[in-house]
Parts: sequence; C-alpha cells; structure tokens
Amino acid sequence: MVVAPRSSNVALARASLLKLAWLLGFVFTLTTSLLVYVAKDLDSTEEAESAFHTKNAVQSIEKNLRTTIKEYAFWGSAYSHLHKTVDHEWAFVRQNLGPTLYSDFGFEGLFVVNAKNQTVYSVVKGTLVSVEATAWLGQPIHMLLDQARAGADSETPATVFFKIDGVPSLVAAAAITPGTDPTVEAEDGPSSVLLFVETFDSARLEAMGGGYGVKGLHISTSDEVHEVSILPLGKDGSGGSLHWTPEKPGQQLLALMLPLIAIAGLLVGLMTWVILRRTTIAAQALDSSYESLKSSQAALSTSEARFRDVVEASSDWIWEIDSTWRFTYISERFEMVTGLSREDWIGASIDELLQTELGTISQLLSAPNRRHNTSIQCNYADIRDHARITQLAARGAVEQGFRGTATDITDEVEAHRRIEYLSRHDALTGLPNRSRMQEFLDGKLKTAPTLDQPLVMLILDLDRFKPVNDLLGYAIGDQVLNEVSRRLGECVRSGDLVARIGGDEFVLILNDVGSPEEVEAACGRLIDSIEQPMILEDHEVFVSASIGIAMAPNDATEAAELLRYADIALYEAKAGGRNTWRFYAFDMNAKIMERRQLENDLRHGIKQGELRLHFQPRFRIADGQMVGAEALVRWQHPERGLISPDSFIPIAEETGLILPLGNWVLTTACERAVSWPESLFVSVNLSSTEFQRGNLIDRVRKVIIETGLEAHRLELEITESVMLEDASGALEVMRELKRLGVRISMDDFGTGYSSLSYLRSFPFDGIKIDRSFVSCLGESDDDKSIINAIVSLGRALSLTVTAEGIETSEHLEVLKSINCDEGQGYFLSRPLDADAFDLLVRANKAAVNV
Ligand code: C2E
Ligand code: CA
Ligand code: CA
Repeated sequence: MVVAPRSSNVALARASLLKLAWLLGFVFTLTTSLLVYVAKDLDSTEEAESAFHTKNAVQSIEKNLRTTIKEYAFWGSAYSHLHKTVDHEWAFVRQNLGPTLYSDFGFEGLFVVNAKNQTVYSVVKGTLVSVEATAWLGQPIHMLLDQARAGADSETPATVFFKIDGVPSLVAAAAITPGTDPTVEAEDGPSSVLLFVETFDSARLEAMGGGYGVKGLHISTSDEVHEVSILPLGKDGSGGSLHWTPEKPGQQLLALMLPLIAIAGLLVGLMTWVILRRTTIAAQALDSSYESLKSSQAALSTSEARFRDVVEASSDWIWEIDSTWRFTYISERFEMVTGLSREDWIGASIDELLQTELGTISQLLSAPNRRHNTSIQCNYADIRDHARITQLAARGAVEQGFRGTATDITDEVEAHRRIEYLSRHDALTGLPNRSRMQEFLDGKLKTAPTLDQPLVMLILDLDRFKPVNDLLGYAIGDQVLNEVSRRLGECVRSGDLVARIGGDEFVLILNDVGSPEEVEAACGRLIDSIEQPMILEDHEVFVSASIGIAMAPNDATEAAELLRYADIALYEAKAGGRNTWRFYAFDMNAKIMERRQLENDLRHGIKQGELRLHFQPRFRIADGQMVGAEALVRWQHPERGLISPDSFIPIAEETGLILPLGNWVLTTACERAVSWPESLFVSVNLSSTEFQRGNLIDRVRKVIIETGLEAHRLELEITESVMLEDASGALEVMRELKRLGVRISMDDFGTGYSSLSYLRSFPFDGIKIDRSFVSCLGESDDDKSIINAIVSLGRALSLTVTAEGIETSEHLEVLKSINCDEGQGYFLSRPLDADAFDLLVRANKAAVNV
C-alpha cells in the first residue's frame, strides 16, 4: 500500500470547528433579532386592539344613554307632569323620574329645564335638590338645549362630553314631547328639556374597561398627554380623555425568551469548546497512529496466520473446489452460517449444495470467461431445511479449480421484497396502490381489449366520508376504509383488481364484464354492499359511494386517458346526486372544460381586478328613507361581459376562491361605505365556506380597523346553511362578531328548513324575507299572511325585518300595511354601480335638506 502525504488532522479539525462556531453565532444573533421584531409587532397589535375596544365601550355607553333618555323624554306622562306643570310628587316621590335612575343606572345628575331655560327639577346623586343645571355642570348649555329641541320631531336626543370638576361626563339632552301618546295634546312654543348626566369616575371606568378586556382604564392626567393609548372624549377632547395600559405580550415574550436564548448560547459555546478539545486530542492520536501504521504494513501483508483470522472473523465463508467440482476446502464459518457440517461436505459436489434458477453451478462456471471474477446468486437449504439465499463470488484457481466466498443474503433479499411490496400496496388497507394499479392497467391494455371483451375501469369515491373522519375520528375513519376495501374485494372476481388510489378513492378494473347492463349490475352490487351499515366501536356508520365508469377500447385505449375519463364520469355522478354511477360520455368533457376555463378565468380575474361591486339601496318602508345598501359582486369578464354572481359564486365556493373574493368584497364595501353619510350602513353577503374557514373574525376586525368604518355600520348577511353545517361553531363565530359590534342578518329567510329555531338561539339583528314570498304578494293571501307572521315574529324577537324583491307599488303598499320595517327591490332601486350609488346618496341628502 502506498501512503500519500497529507496535511495534519489537527489543523483540519480546528479550521472546521471555527467555521461552525461562526455559523452558530450568526444563527443566535438572527434568532434574537427576529424575536425582538416579533415582540414589537405583538405589542403594537395589542395597542391597536385595545384602542378599538375602548372606543367601542364609549360608543356603547353613549348609545345606551341615548336609548334610555328617549324612553323618558318622548313620553306622554312626562310631558304632562314635567312640561305642562312641574309635579315633584309624580316625578320624585312616585319614582317616575326619581332616585332609581341613580341607583339603577348610575346617572349622577338629572335635570328638567323649562321653556325659558330655567331649571325646574333637579336630582343629584338620587337626592332632590334645588340647583341650576348650568351651575352644577359648570358650563353654559344653551347650545345643547337648542340641539335637543331641534331633535324633538325626529325624537333624536343630543349628547355631549363635558368635564365636570375635572371628571369627564357624558350629558344627554332630549326635548320632552308627548311621544306617540294620543291622549296628551302637544302645546305650541319651545319644549322643556330633560338632561341626564353620567360621569366617568374611576369605578365606572374600571367596570367599563373590564367588560371589554381593557386594563387600567382611567382619566388621563396632563403628564400623560404624550402617551399613545389615549382616547379624547368629545370635540377635540373638550370632555377630557381616557388613558389605559395595554398589555405588552411582546415584552412578556422577550422577558421569557431572552434568558433562555442566552442560556442556550452559553451551553452551545461550552459544548463547542469541549468538542474542540476532544477532536484536537483525537486528531493528534490519529496523526501519530498513522505514522506507526506505515511501518507495520509490510509485516501485516506477509502474515498468513493473520489472514486466516480475518477469514474466520468475516461473516462469509470461503471455499475451494477442484476440477471435478468437489469441495477441497470449506472455512469454519460455514458451519455457523448454514448449520451444516464441514466434514460431510468436503469431497461432495458443489452442485448438490447450491442451486440456481439458471442451471447448475458447474454449468455456469464452465462457461467461457468465467475464470475471472464471477458472482452468482444461489439457493440452498440449511440444517433445518429452510430455504436460504447466498451470493457466490468465484474466480479460477490452480489446476482448473475455483475458489471464492459465499455471502448469506437471505435477509437482504427478503427486505428488498418487502419494500417492493410496500411500494406497490396501500399500507392501511393492503390493497394495491396507484402505482401497482397503473402497472396492472398497462399490462391489461397491452393485450388489446375489444368491444366484445372490453376492459372496464370504475373509479369509486365515498360520499360524505369527511364527516365520518371529522366527527368520529381518524381511527374510525380508517376502520371504515378497511371495511369498504373488504366489501369491494368480495364483489369482484379473481382476475379483477381493486386498488386504493387516494383517501377515499378506489379504482376497480374488471375483465369479464361485457355489456353495459352487466357493468350496471356490478355497480349496483358495489353500491348496495357499501351502503350496508357498519357497526364500529358502538357507532353505526353509514357511507355510500359514487362511481364513474370508462371502458377500453370504446372510450380510450391509453391508461391515463381512461383514468381521466372515469374521473370525469365520477364528477358527473357526484353532481347527479351521489350514491349513483355514470358512464363517461363525450360531452361531459366539454362541460367540464368550460367550467375549468371559467375557474381559471376567475382565478386570474380576481387578481386582475375584474370584480365590480354594485350597491342596492335598502329603505325604511314607513317613511321611504334610505337606511343602507347591500353590496353585490359582479365579474367584468374580458370576453363574456358582466357575469352575475349566481354563475360564479358556486365555482368560487367549490375551488376555495371564495376566500380571496370575499376578502375583496368586504374590504371594498367598507372602503366605499366610509365615504357615505353616517346614517347609512353597508351589508355584505358571506358564504358558509367563509364562515367556517379563513379566520372570519380576524378579517372583519382588520377591515374595520383599517378602513375606519364604525362597526355598527357593517352588516353581514348569512344564510341558514351556515348553521346547518356546523351549528355550535357558527354560534361561537357569531358571538365573536357581535363583540366586534357588527350586525348580523339572516338572508333568504323562509327558504330553509328550520329557520325559526335558529332565530331564537342565535344572535341575529335582522331577517331578510326571501323574494319568492314577496313576488307572489297580491296573487295569494297565503303569502301575505306568511309575511305578516314573519313581521310579528321579528317584532317579538326585536329583529329588523326586511322584505327583498319589491317589484311593484302594490308590493310596497301591502308591506306598508303590515308594518314591515325595511325593503329592497327593483321597484325602489336596482343595484347601482358605486358612482351611480354615490349620486343617488347625494340627491337624497339634498332632498332631505330642502
Ligand atoms: P341575495 O343575497 O338574495 O341578493 C339579492 C339578489 O336579488 C341580487 O341578485 C339582486 O340583484 C336581486 N334583486 C334585488 N331586487 C330584486 C327584485 O326586485 N326582483 C328580483 N327578481 N331580484 C332582485 P344578484 O346580485 O344577482 O345576487 C345573487 C346572489 O348572489 C345573492 O343573492 C347572493 O346570494 C350572491 N352574492 C352576491 N354578491 C355576493 C358576494 O359578494 N358574496 C357572496 N358570498 N355572495 C354574493
Ligand atoms: Ca343578500
Ligand atoms: Ca336574499
């Protein structure tokens, strides 16, 4: 052996370890910077969310105060006892407007100011006192009073934030009017005004923050004005401002992780040092042993004794045969490997011991060119008569003999077979898998099936297998697949093939089925067998199957085509109501191609901005006022023109494109609505897919924060299918949405099965009666009474009822007569593009101002 000079092992080891240390240092620095970045991002998100919740809390208090004061001010009795005369007995002693407003609602101040702006009734902290409202509030209030009186006809109260003794307070004012009480007659002249004062003292703020998960909400002091977490109250913060302490999840994360990273760094450093030391020592040893090896080489190569040792230490045995093919030498190892005795075999023929499939060993070795190195795989029987496999290596030796080694490769060959089996069979069911099926199919197609003796391919897919997995768990799902495999196996003949090619997809290849009738009979048997209930761990499980059929040579003669066509037929079977079968037909392909084309176009179209949003106004029926608009999506296809949602929403839902599409609609609708007058809301349709996947809550929260649209101006329309598919999940999502402050209405009401029960148990704000009921109005009294019943139900559950599809003035009259709240339809306005809708809004505003 020639030994080439080489560089020292010590130097090499040092250099590579140094590189490793640099790399580790870099990884640690990178991790730490990433962590700091993530922590900062977390903190700022938390900050924005708490600001959003604080704003919501203040708005909700303001809304409550307005609702409460409306109930007291627009009230016939109050008009008689506080405006016409001032009756303290009625108001304070009989508690109509007395101390309970402080004890129950926490209104600190309660005043009535008469037509000449003098305070005639005042209750402060539940005690009847005599004090001027202006004096108690510490500021002039004539503007507030004017505003309240101006809102008398429309029953709109006014609110303002004041700072009273440094404490921010919300003051609501409403003109006292007879309301809808027909027994009280209204007088001419300016009305009296009722004032409610609610102060935001520390206890109130603590409670308010707690309800929305905002910590440490308090009045901001002058030295905090530069802080970020500040919400000014009233115009320019004239009513003071609120401050709170947002949680710092990022800082907490840093506090937890940084020490850990530091410790990990220290450990890794220590380990690198230890390894460096050890490798240096090992490398030094290697260097020196290398030197000594060189000198002993010569001695080693000449030692025959040592050679024998090596021979016996190896797992192979060594043999020698003479020119008559008889063993002249067999090494000791032979006995351990085969269990046979050396004595018995020395002198025996090698052909007796070893056999091959290609002929005897003597024949093989006699062939020309075999005297050089040759390798032959052979079989033999060991002492227990078990079949074993050995690899024989041979080369010619003196006097026409041979010598060589024999390696036992039984385990290796067995493992190889097993791997091959596994690679062609499905691990769960043991059925052939896709690649075995492919091989089988190719083989069958090579024998050229004929019209009389066709090759039939069935693709069978379980219907509604996913719910089994989702509801009962994967273990049961696996058992179902095994049971189905077993049943399929029972339905076919011996030369046929059943393969599992995907989750719940099977392929059957049938040989001896001639006519379509026979194929149908086979499909019938398969479906019947699968439909039989399965009892699995106390569950009774029902599944069914759909089958697509393609035949060679009629439909195709290529494996790939046959598979594709059977798949298309399967798709049609599913569309045809499942639990059935379909033969492939030529036009199926065209239909699917067209649909695929549309699907591709849509994917592209969403990215290219081909979607358009139209708005259909919604009106209050009683006075014709516009209250909001429904956003309806359209697709401006470059060749097909404007496509209506009914033609592409189903495709979007099936392909998952509904998520980007829905996102676009939600964002665009909110962006538009921000520019509308504050009294108008926008309503957006949601698919049930969007409801179940795609983080709806996060999306809505993000859109509200990013567009700045007030949450109560956004309405989400959902259909009953959302609840049918996953009632408890839906309830959870709806509650979260309500916490954000958006409105939710049930669309297409009346077309489903059990809408009524859902209305009671889910937090809806409104219902939209399906237009099929409205379109028949006038034709039958039935529909009128149905709508009437829905309106009464809506009233009883405090839901806003909207009628859709108002197409004629008669429809509108009927709906008015039964006091339906809101309406939408071509008669009132068609859906308009965004610009046309803006024009309408402006015209409307002008009309109101006149
Ligand atoms: P929908 O939610 O029931 O929407 C009302 C549909 O009725 C709209 O059809 C509207 O143009 C139509 N309509 C309004 N007034 C009348 C009328 O007086 N008579 C008649 N015959 N029809 C009227 P459009 O815009 O074709 O929308 C169809 C459906 O597509 C919608 O039904 C909704 O389910 C869905 N859709 C529309 N936009 C979206 C969207 O952005 N996302 C989702 N997921 N679905 C949407
Ligand atoms: Ca709708
Ligand atoms: Ca509808």
